[in-house]
Amino acid sequence: MTVPRDEHARTLAFAEIALNQIRALAEPATPRNFAVWYHYATGYNPALNRAINQALEDKRVLADADLEQIYDTYIATTQVSDSVDTVGSRVLDEIKQVLAMIDAASGSTTSYSESLADASAKLAATSDRDTLRAVIERLIEGTREMEVHNRKLEASLSTSKQEIEQLQENLAVVRTESQTDALTGLANRKLFDNALIKAIAEAKAKGEPLSLLMADVDYFKLFNDKFGHQTGDQVLRLVAQAMKQNVNSEHVAARYGGEEFVIALPKTVLRSAIAVADQIRRAVMAKELMKRSSGERLGRVTLSVGVALLRAADTPQSLVGRADKCLYAAKRNGRNRVICETDPAAGQAGSAGLVNARVA
Ligand code: GH3
Ligand code: MG
Ligand code: MG
Repeated sequence: MTVPRDEHARTLAFAEIALNQIRALAEPATPRNFAVWYHYATGYNPALNRAINQALEDKRVLADADLEQIYDTYIATTQVSDSVDTVGSRVLDEIKQVLAMIDAASGSTTSYSESLADASAKLAATSDRDTLRAVIERLIEGTREMEVHNRKLEASLSTSKQEIEQLQENLAVVRTESQTDALTGLANRKLFDNALIKAIAEAKAKGEPLSLLMADVDYFKLFNDKFGHQTGDQVLRLVAQAMKQNVNSEHVAARYGGEEFVIALPKTVLRSAIAVADQIRRAVMAKELMKRSSGERLGRVTLSVGVALLRAADTPQSLVGRADKCLYAAKRNGRNRVICETDPAAGQAGSAGLVNARVA
């Protein structure tokens, strides 16, 4: 494919801006970082630019984790929706083909019934044997043609059916991927937000309790700084594992962002939700971490957890906000603990900043 001259010049200019940013911030010139800065240079994705500008304003640098989060949020998800589009347009193509086949089939059925009508008119008008034989032969020939045609049509429809089934499977895989956090295999923020809206509506309609749990890894920045980001990622997988092992099929556990996790617990009163939170907290704390490559002992990590119960006037934001306040109280009261909104310690105002930082 030839790139138009102006396109060539324009893309080179974007690439140059991207490389200059990478140089200026002394970041590794990996394809991922290049993709982030290239998108930034084009300005086509305003949300990505806002996220980068905000991060630069806050910290003046973009850490590896920031770049990864920006890439996952603003670039990888677009790629997933691109593949959804591809699968979607292939389904449409296949449907068009099937429709064309049905059109062709109904055309040949019409001409067949026309020839039947014609034959029946001729039969009624004739008593001569030869004409009779000729009419019957034409009828037999027409019927045979129709049979061959139908067989071909059946074969094409069966191929199309298989193709459509395959595409449906692909679509289901892509859909699941677009709602899953790639690092931990938990639900991602998008799925969680939708699930929480539904769970709140259902709990209110049925008058059932709904609890929300929000967890954050303690001193995770220190852990990353000490042992590296990749080892940090292993810890996030471990936390996700502990969550998966302590929830049931009705609970929705998700990675809310970075090192923050949430679980919506339908039909669950506060006391039971606290029990789930504490099991997860204990499971994480119980694990002695070890670097796979070297066997080096890395100690343990702990979780702080906030738990809130749905109130009649709650929106998703207000419920998440209260769980976040409890989480902050857990941090303030020494970390490695679960605090719910009926705890006196949760009373003091404050927020871990998760909600404000992320609801935009
Ligand atoms: P606190 O106990 O108050 O929560 O302290 P903290 O250090 O955990 O809190 P802070 O929010 O300052 O740090 C969060 C860190 O989480 C920053 C970043 O290095 C790390 N982080 C965020 N996302 C990821 C990720 O996907 N992988 C890894 N390895 N680290 C991440
Ligand atoms: Mg945090
Ligand atoms: Mg933390």
